[in-house]
Amino acid sequence: MSKAKIVLVEDDTIQAKVTKDYLETSGYEVIWVQNGKSAIKTAKTQHIDLILLDLVLPDLDGNEVARWLKNNEDTKGIPIIILTVKGSTEEKVIGLEAGADDYLHKPYNEIELNARIYACLRTKALQDELRVKNRQLEEVLLRVESLAITDPLTGLFNRRHFETTLEKEFNRSIRYLSPASCLMIDIDYFKKINDEYGHHTGDVVLKEVSEVIKDCIREIDTVARWGGEEFIVLLPETKKEASLQAALRILRVISEHKFSGINRQITVSIGLANIPEPSIDTAEKLINTADLALYEAKAKGRNKIEVA
Ligand code: GH3
Ligand code: MG
Ligand code: MG
Ligand code: MG
Repeated sequence: MSKAKIVLVEDDTIQAKVTKDYLETSGYEVIWVQNGKSAIKTAKTQHIDLILLDLVLPDLDGNEVARWLKNNEDTKGIPIIILTVKGSTEEKVIGLEAGADDYLHKPYNEIELNARIYACLRTKALQDELRVKNRQLEEVLLRVESLAITDPLTGLFNRRHFETTLEKEFNRSIRYLSPASCLMIDIDYFKKINDEYGHHTGDVVLKEVSEVIKDCIREIDTVARWGGEEFIVLLPETKKEASLQAALRILRVISEHKFSGINRQITVSIGLANIPEPSIDTAEKLINTADLALYEAKAKGRNKIEVA
């Protein structure tokens, strides 16, 4: 383990030398500075474990230095022990309020100083450990949150997340009388792909279809995997005519796409539903309407769009 690094802030050369020698003998690395500004600069630029701070300094008041260090994001975690000849209760309270962690009179007892340094370092080590654990926890939480809304195969949003997003967007559209559109997309004769090329190739096709759909829509649109080989798209702020253009683009790009591992074309069928529409007064009805339209598109021969 490397030595703990202590900044000794002391303008009295003789006092500083005595303290520095003692601390070094006790196994610490000591950086001695003689004024408040150097103390702040050192704390900002080096990795410091603890500061021993004199109160009466040639430039700044020691309490000011403590306040500055504790208000600064980079230095607030460094423990500060005030070492001073001032010893009234009032002085102590001011120092502790300024952010010092401990307070010791000069002349100090060396063993006591060492014990207090040790206690401060122990607390800092625990806090550092806690901070690392918190960061790890936050990362795990982010990952879990992301996993909870993602379809594992395609990386698209999953059905649950789509439903949440649609619910919000639907309510917003109703409130502001803005249009929105929902596309239900199903791969035609997908079972044949699995039967002919195997499930793994089927999975690859699903991923590629996902990518193609994503490339065909805007940033503000939401696409999700609705079920096995079904996808759903929400187009906010989109009227019927524009949503039909988006659906046509998806239909065309997929039918022209060269899929890996198979030597035939793939097509999709799309059901399209739009709001505002008097009969559609819930998000669920919007989805059901798009789904019914999709059935129509299938019935009419596939590779088609049906507008509800
Ligand atoms: P249609 O044109 O009527 O939609 O016919 P289809 O064959 O696409 O539809 P059907 O519902 O009969 O079959 C869907 C197939 O999708 C059956 C199922 O095995 C397959 N499937 C569902 N999920 C996955 C998956 O995650 N990976 C693979 N490879 N296949 C899947
Ligand atoms: Mg002094
Ligand atoms: Mg299908
Ligand atoms: Mg299907």
